[in-house]
Amino acid sequence: MSQTNTVKTKRASQEQGPSEVSSTCPYCGVGCGVDVSVDYVKSDTGNGSTVRLSGLSGTRDHPANFGRLCVKGTQLLATNSLAGRMQTPTIDGKKASWSAAINKVAQSFSDIIATHGADSVAFYVSGQLLTEDYYVANKLMKGYIGSANIDTNSRLCMSSAVTAYKRAFGADAVPCCYEDVEETDLVVLVGSNAAWTHPVLYQRIERAKKRNPALQVVIIDPRRTASSELADLHLPIKPGTDVALFNGLLAYLSANQGLDHRYIEQHTEGFTATLEMCQNWSVDQVAAFCDVDNSVITQFFDLFKLRDRVVTAYSMGVNQSSSGVDKANAIINCHLATGKLGREGCGPFSLTGQPNAMGGREVGGLANMLACHMDLDNAVHTQLVQNYWQSPNIATKPGLKAVDLFDKILDGTVKAVWIMATNPVVSMPNRDKIIAALQTCELVVVSDVTAQNDTIDYAHVTLPATTWSEKNGTVTNSERRISRQRGILPAFAESKHDWQIVCDVAKAMGFKQGFNYQTVHEIFNEYTGLSAEQNQGSRDLDLSGISQLSAEQYDKLRPVQWPINAANPQGTKRLFSDAKFYTQTAKAQFIALSVQLPEQQCSAAFPFVLNSGRIRDQWHTMTRTGKSSELNAHQPLPTLAIHPEDAAALNLNQHDFVQLFAAHNDQPKRKDDSSETKVVLAVNIDSRQRQGEVFAPIHWSAANSSSAAIASLYSDAHDPLSGQPELKHAAVALSPIRFASQGQIFTKHPLARDFLRRCFDYYVQIPLSQGCMLTFASQQQIPALKSLIQQHFPLYDEWMSQLLDGQQNSYALQQGQLMLAMFTGSDYRQIDQVWLNALFSQTQLGPLDFNALLTGRPHTAFNAGPLICSCFKVGENTIKQAIEAGCETVEALGAKLKCGTNCGSCKSELSQLLNQYTPAPQTQMSVAAARISVVQLDEQ
Ligand code: SF4
Repeated sequence: MSQTNTVKTKRASQEQGPSEVSSTCPYCGVGCGVDVSVDYVKSDTGNGSTVRLSGLSGTRDHPANFGRLCVKGTQLLATNSLAGRMQTPTIDGKKASWSAAINKVAQSFSDIIATHGADSVAFYVSGQLLTEDYYVANKLMKGYIGSANIDTNSRLCMSSAVTAYKRAFGADAVPCCYEDVEETDLVVLVGSNAAWTHPVLYQRIERAKKRNPALQVVIIDPRRTASSELADLHLPIKPGTDVALFNGLLAYLSANQGLDHRYIEQHTEGFTATLEMCQNWSVDQVAAFCDVDNSVITQFFDLFKLRDRVVTAYSMGVNQSSSGVDKANAIINCHLATGKLGREGCGPFSLTGQPNAMGGREVGGLANMLACHMDLDNAVHTQLVQNYWQSPNIATKPGLKAVDLFDKILDGTVKAVWIMATNPVVSMPNRDKIIAALQTCELVVVSDVTAQNDTIDYAHVTLPATTWSEKNGTVTNSERRISRQRGILPAFAESKHDWQIVCDVAKAMGFKQGFNYQTVHEIFNEYTGLSAEQNQGSRDLDLSGISQLSAEQYDKLRPVQWPINAANPQGTKRLFSDAKFYTQTAKAQFIALSVQLPEQQCSAAFPFVLNSGRIRDQWHTMTRTGKSSELNAHQPLPTLAIHPEDAAALNLNQHDFVQLFAAHNDQPKRKDDSSETKVVLAVNIDSRQRQGEVFAPIHWSAANSSSAAIASLYSDAHDPLSGQPELKHAAVALSPIRFASQGQIFTKHPLARDFLRRCFDYYVQIPLSQGCMLTFASQQQIPALKSLIQQHFPLYDEWMSQLLDGQQNSYALQQGQLMLAMFTGSDYRQIDQVWLNALFSQTQLGPLDFNALLTGRPHTAFNAGPLICSCFKVGENTIKQAIEAGCETVEALGAKLKCGTNCGSCKSELSQLLNQYTPAPQTQMSVAAARISVVQLDEQ
């Protein structure tokens, strides 16, 4: 494995030789266990040893994944490289000592609080933090500073689900566990492309369905996605119509003897009023409103009614909405009305996006929570927490949720913000407003792993934090399972753990008493102790069973689901088996719901709905997954998926470029010269889109592309209860853009952002294992671009270029080694990255290589096409050849090529290829070698 994971350490006491450390994957909310092979090699001098992460596999007995990992987890070591890491603190862009940086942050926060009050400062934190990090950050803000202005990027992920659970159950209590999606009769996936966003959980459903073909899967999603491959029924509902669908389901259940009257009577309240609100939603009305066939609606309603055990799993497609809380409650209403809750294979199951969104909820990482599932507006709770913390202050009212927080930074109410482990300039809606807010803010502190991202551009102080392989603590996954993430490598360069940084700032602010921890284990015991304080079953989050662990017990803690207490010392699989809820009456609450349309409505001027989401192999803003050439190869460009008829109406062909304009135009002017973020994407014509709706991925940013930060197209629209932004439904207009030139440049070294902006109107630059790949488009002609590039690299000693069918390919060498290759032919997207990686790693190219570079036609060994299977590096062309050779099933492809046989993330794409690819008669690719004319570039 990667040598970049080698770090010198003084752990002389470590035994020489290999060992294995169990930890947890830091990406999605599935929370898979990983076993990391570690080599401790004694140094030649005998002074200390070197630690090397030499391998990684899924933990066989981790109950979340039983040894399986998706492609992101499989590639964890590749993304753990030290390249691009923040190394030292900085103040105003200059290197600073830790003491100077900590004092600057502490003094500035203290001064601002003294002058303007506690609510004039804020933390914006992250579901990437460990629970212990989150706990101390929350304690500092709510117990010591005395404000609740700590919010988290989990606000963007599942805050609507949290509010819905609290409304229905009286607590943020996820009732289900992963086993439920296997031990059920019906899985309903709503607003979730789990095949890509929660792959290992999706594959558990897939395997369960194979074992039990009677298990039915219904997908409710406007798009047909990779997850649809498993669906027995797909409801491609019009975006934002979920409440009408589930209100209709409740009315149907009532009219067709589908209710559990005993459960409703004994364990719930509010049913009559709720049903009253649903009565108008007949099947016909639902079908018309949701724009789905009546028969499909009826099939779904019957399945829900007739199947004894139903799990409805939902994710960002439900939550990221101006009525996200209502959507989740509409789902919960149907489970309450049928008693499909609190027993095996049943329940409304919110799938969290982030690895530790749940941990943040536990310790109070959201601005409207206190800690340990206690409430800011409950005097008993605030008193309890303040007594426990022995803190000088306690927040008694909710703080600012993410969207409001940045508004208050912009208007000057909040004067200092500390952003931890997140990149709000890319992930928050209304990017230009977020930038304007950060430009306005007196003090922006960013603690992060990476040295460069779009948010760090606006930081006054940066603080280097440790990353996954270095951090030590706990995370909680979607099924309430707490797992250890174990520190393996020593902290890189000068980086510190987030909890240490928070405690250092707290102590420098004068709060020595509450933050004198020496280890994460102490923090964990304090946190779990607080969950147990005066609990006696009154609160769902009870960790009394693990509240006094020794350091050794903490280190060895096995994955366990809360609550963990005297009644359930081994943890609790599912909640509400006794149908006792955390409301005042101990009964669950039905919520009567009216249907609200999305706030950002289309019009003649902005006729398209923009939906957004994740792609298979990337995570958030690519600061980690973007380092892996394997992960980048699956989908190297941000594209806009559009229905063929919409594309035809706009005269758009596959790969054409299109600019997107948003209906909202309320962004304040930024202080720099570009007053507006441009979004330009390459077109991907996709019949799985509904007409009038387009889809774009969320991952790309100014750090790697000119114009792909799509969150800029979303307005501040958010759910009034949860504050979760509406990131699935913007009204946009599309305008085709024609460029004078376009192509791909492969470089040994990355090109600087300033240079890229000067040369290209559009670019995306991603790393390869041996260089970089730049996809570009420009209004300048190729000769002018080549001239600029050549001037930029005066040390390259040999430049060659060739005309072929009016297109030009070029390359540059330095002492015989390939440094740059440029392809501008119409098929430049077919150039194989593996080939260029191979060429970049050669010290001397041969004549055949030169010819191949000039023609853009490598040896057939490098003609695999776009990568489909990242684990075994199997490309689309290879798979098509196997289909032509007679492979008719995913299993047959796996047997022949191994594709899909490791992490399984690509299986749905293999299935799509099998369904869609019709082998054509073989044609001979002609290389017009006779028309080749080679000229020296500098002669043009
Ligand atoms: Fe990590 Fe993939 Fe498991 Fe999610 S499903 S935790 S990304 S390995």
